[in-house]
Amino acid sequence: MTNHETSEIMTALRKIVGERHVVTDPAELQVLGCDWTKIFFVDPLAAVFPASTGEVADVVKFCKEHGLGIVPSGGRTGLAGGAVAGNKEIVISLKRMTRIDPVDRVGLTIQCEAGATTQAVQEAASAAGLFFALDLAAKGSSHIGGNIATNAGGLKLIRYGGMREQVLGIEVVLPDGSILDMNSRLRKNNTGYDLKHLFIGSEGTLGIVTRATLRLMAKPRNVQLACIAVRNFSDITKILTIASMEGATITAFEFFTDVAHGIVLQHAQGARTPFQQRAPFYVILEVEDAVGGASVMEPLLEKLYENDVCIDAVIAQNSAQFKELWSLRENITESLSAHGHVRKNDISLPVDMLDPFIRELVDEVAKAPKDIEVVLFGHIGDGNLHINYVGPKSGDKKQFQEAARKVEERIFSLLPKYKGSISAEHGIGLLKKKDLKFSRSEAEINLMRGLKKIVDPAGIMNPGKIFD
Ligand SMILES: Cc1cc2nc3c(=O)[nH]c(=O)nc-3n(C[C@H](O)[C@H](O)[C@H](O)COP(=O)(O)OP(=O)(O)OC[C@H]3O[C@@H](n4cnc5c(N)ncnc54)[C@H](O)[C@@H]3O)c2cc1C
Repeated sequence: MTNHETSEIMTALRKIVGERHVVTDPAELQVLGCDWTKIFFVDPLAAVFPASTGEVADVVKFCKEHGLGIVPSGGRTGLAGGAVAGNKEIVISLKRMTRIDPVDRVGLTIQCEAGATTQAVQEAASAAGLFFALDLAAKGSSHIGGNIATNAGGLKLIRYGGMREQVLGIEVVLPDGSILDMNSRLRKNNTGYDLKHLFIGSEGTLGIVTRATLRLMAKPRNVQLACIAVRNFSDITKILTIASMEGATITAFEFFTDVAHGIVLQHAQGARTPFQQRAPFYVILEVEDAVGGASVMEPLLEKLYENDVCIDAVIAQNSAQFKELWSLRENITESLSAHGHVRKNDISLPVDMLDPFIRELVDEVAKAPKDIEVVLFGHIGDGNLHINYVGPKSGDKKQFQEAARKVEERIFSLLPKYKGSISAEHGIGLLKKKDLKFSRSEAEINLMRGLKKIVDPAGIMNPGKIFD
């Protein structure tokens, strides 16, 4: 593309979104064309910041007419390279589209533009005395549009489901620039194919989500939280079973290893262990107590001691301790990035297959190069295990990624036998497209490709993501 052509494109984009809302500065583009992965080549042509669905549609139409690739961009907290622009694409960021409408207290819904952050929606719901259930450590930065595009899972999926379960309707700008209004507030609507689900989890490859209607619910009351120290991995699933058998309403069931705990204690400001003696594993268990009823947590912990599946446990006694215990889990991702080079896996298995899988994983990890540390944590109550390969910061990043990739491939190849998934919640993006075959049959991949061709025949919407 000549300089003259580029300059004409920028003039046209500025006409649509305004002079100040097109970025071409190479240093800024390195940030705007990248997500949390930071391992891919980044080279967008420009980043634009529309202020309305109409402006998004006009930018998309312009890109279609000029054969320009588009990368939809939210809070850029994605962990699969989905928001990476490495081939002169136009990054369309929804950062300016943050409007949240007044809460519908009767129908228990909230409507917002897709650039609203997850936390802003949580806070708007809370201010109206209600509750928005999606929760994740990236909530301060991640956008509702990004949550929808990745079908984010998060910390409360075990109780409330993931993003798919929170979405009642969406508005989408299609790759030809037309606007598909499916932003319904209906809870029931059996009128043919439910097309919104095609876009949820499509990682920006089928269109740009511009607005959404989300489900709200009553605020959970009497939530109790415990951090439980555990001797063996197999005790974790036993705790899950005992908690369910005891009738606990589990709102979160997370785990991390002592290695993850040590890294958080080293890097997260103010972090401290609640235990006198460290243990190999820890569970974060959150339960809802019956309103006005007796506490569930204390008798449950007694049962865990009786069954010898718990070495020690701490119950949060006030909101400060509640935050402190949760932060031990929520600070893991950021602490790992501060600690060294990281390659992340986000696999899931049927929960009863976790024990045998972990035994095989331990064997594979033993064969890994000695300077690769394997750090485990995750939403284990949903069968979601985050496997993180961590190499020393002083080492070569590229060499580390190559070595970690070899271990990762061996671990992925174990999954089909357990009917597991290579991506529980982070998506495929650029990072895992080679590995899609481990979780999806050829027939499924062909059908996905066919759908992509129908919706985006020119292939301009987030090109090269999920599959080539
Ligand atoms: C500390 C940390 C903790 C995390 N914890 C979790 C977790 O518990 N559960 C979980 O599921 N994920 C988690 N993630 C991953 C990430 O936060 C989620 O995937 C999140 O939903 C991404 O939202 P985003 O706005 O940052 O999207 P981005 O990173 O900007 O984009 C992600 C994908 O969505 C597309 N996209 C973005 N906006 C739109 C839009 N409006 N329309 C169409 N496509 C769009 C992009 O093209 C890209 O493919 C975590 C990440 C971090 C850094």
